[in-house]
Amino acid sequence: MNKENSMEHAGSLEEKELEWKKQGKLLARFYEAEQDVVPPENFKDAFRPVDRILRCIDERTKGGLPLAGSGMLLGKKEALCIAREMKIEVVTSHVDCGAAKIAIERFNGITLDNAVERYAQEWGIMFAKELGVPYAGHLAVAPNFHNARVAYYDASGSFDWSRVKNLPAGFRISRKYLSPDYAKTEIGIAVSIAMGPHGYGHIIPFRDERNSKFIFTAIGSKEELPHLVEELKPVAAKYYGGVIIKTLQIP
Ligand SMILES: [Zn+2]
Repeated sequence: MNKENSMEHAGSLEEKELEWKKQGKLLARFYEAEQDVVPPENFKDAFRPVDRILRCIDERTKGGLPLAGSGMLLGKKEALCIAREMKIEVVTSHVDCGAAKIAIERFNGITLDNAVERYAQEWGIMFAKELGVPYAGHLAVAPNFHNARVAYYDASGSFDWSRVKNLPAGFRISRKYLSPDYAKTEIGIAVSIAMGPHGYGHIIPFRDERNSKFIFTAIGSKEELPHLVEELKPVAAKYYGGVIIKTLQIP
């Protein structure tokens, strides 16, 4: 567990440049698409969850089902209601959680690293107990910065990019279970983290204008996609052209 000063060691510029280059090929599929992205091979596998472990929307906590900070920004009552609907069987928390940082700022403005780590764990333990399921611990994350250039806005409720070889790492927003307003909050958090100092920051994204935009990817049926895109537009607009919207149709 990389607990000590985890937020201050947000990846060196060299590490970030290397990761940026590595992801270029996977992202070409998205940048080259008009709006509808051609799904990679075995795309169906992305919709077959192998467990019902609650994780974060953070791209480094792949697998299971995601809610920002394991639901901590929803408030306990609503989070419990949604977690039951998602049929969550296990709860986790994780190191360096951006949602925990936001939650603490809401309460009292203190964002010391140890306060963030403690809050994330305390929420996870409390939430598991209330839900009547096991708490499986405070997960380590790698790399030590946010490497996602995509946030998936998922109407299926089961999408996981990590089950498909040629999909880039991305934040995952469970739109299926969330109100449109709250889902917008989560995707707003994702893009602000990705474009901030804990992500690639402002240094790399503007080097190559065309292939450097952050990507919101709506995932839904043919009928759902136009609505999802409309929901994403006002969030993307806050970034003055720095965020583009693409779609992936559920097979
Ligand atoms: Zn998190």
